[in-house]
Amino acid sequence: MTTATDYLTRVRADIARRDPNQTEFLEAIDNFFKTLTPVLEAHPEYVKANIVGRLTEPERVIQFRVPWVDDQGNVQVNRGFRVQFSAAIGPYKGGLRFHPTVNLSIIKFLGFEQIFKNSLTGLPIGGGKGGSDFDPKGKSDNEVMRFTQSFMTELQKYIGPDLDVPAGDIGVGAREIGFMYGQYRRLNGYQAGVLTGKGLSFGGSLARTEATGYGLLYYTEALLAAQGDQLTGKKIKVSGAGNVAIYAIQKATELGATVLTASDSDGFIYDPNGIDYQLIKQIKEVERGRIKEYADRVETATYQTGSVWDFDTDYDIALPCATQNEIDGAKAKRLAQNGATVIACGANMPCTPEAVEVFKQENVILGPAKAANAGGVAVSALEMSQNSERLSWTFEEVDNRLKTIMKGIFDESAAAAKQYDLGTDYLAAANIAGFSKVAEAMLAQGVI
Ligand code: GLU
Repeated sequence: MTTATDYLTRVRADIARRDPNQTEFLEAIDNFFKTLTPVLEAHPEYVKANIVGRLTEPERVIQFRVPWVDDQGNVQVNRGFRVQFSAAIGPYKGGLRFHPTVNLSIIKFLGFEQIFKNSLTGLPIGGGKGGSDFDPKGKSDNEVMRFTQSFMTELQKYIGPDLDVPAGDIGVGAREIGFMYGQYRRLNGYQAGVLTGKGLSFGGSLARTEATGYGLLYYTEALLAAQGDQLTGKKIKVSGAGNVAIYAIQKATELGATVLTASDSDGFIYDPNGIDYQLIKQIKEVERGRIKEYADRVETATYQTGSVWDFDTDYDIALPCATQNEIDGAKAKRLAQNGATVIACGANMPCTPEAVEVFKQENVILGPAKAANAGGVAVSALEMSQNSERLSWTFEEVDNRLKTIMKGIFDESAAAAKQYDLGTDYLAAANIAGFSKVAEAMLAQGVI
């Protein structure tokens, strides 16, 4: 009989043979496989049905050309992607990322993670992800509109309210979703449920904008409560200054913590009195400026270039909300030396495998991305429900459901941790809990 470890080694070899250069995807696979042995040992039927081999191969990968005309009249070209990873438990669901680093490996890693994140929400949504190497930074509104219209002209062939429902991610916010929705509607007619993160006047959900950041704090609250602790009085380091970071800062502050930092790709701000989320929102979303400008306007704040994780100050909780692999082994050591005992991931895969090892050695409890940042996609699923019902729920109703979902995600992870004797390894627990539901669905649906 094949052991679980032999089986995973074989699947890993097949993936690497097919796509040897997909670094980020292979990293996500390795992180995942490290935690899967106990569940495969308990369920030999998953090995026999080759659930992992099937699940690591996307159901469909779409890549396309995106030509557009810039403000000088020159024709530019970018590359578009949509990876439809798994629809075992519901329509493909996941964001679109516009960033110059985007490639198939990054979209596959994000799409793979999305399968289990979406499963953890307890809602019927499968996993997908897409995007482009287009850089919205420095582009005019008209350029962004022409690009997104061209992007959607191709993407619309492959998506639909019961088929695949994209949303935002890095570089894709309300403006981009609005333009893409407009183009979809122009080509196909009214179908509110085809995208989430829409504007409130055309089918968007209240609290969707806030959801990932708020959800991160609701999850962190549940994690702390399980250790007999709470958020009040805690000092928090946040990285990032985008949609996730902004609302994480707001909710952390409302719940009685002090947020010391925020960052962008150039540098970070430090304010011992606590960061004002509204000012960041103004600078980043309205003025589309850089985080440095915060320190120009707030007397107690200072600005430094470089990574916020290389800056020494005492704090309790780390909330990385910027991007993948922002915390490596050395930064993880520093984080522990600075006194942090909890890290909850607002960004997707912000910690390298070395960093995850350091956290284990140093007893820093890790709230993994697929659990901690699932609030965004959870409210996206609630937006889909409202679109189907042709109703809109109040902010309070959506926020309450979000709280229940985030607490449920933590509780389900804690239950898996208990069942498989994982202590506070909530990363392994979330992987197992998210995977189990998808595996059961695949088993029930036969070889497809
Ligand atoms: N991009 C977000 C994520 O990483 C949200 C996706 C969605 O709402 O579909 O989960």
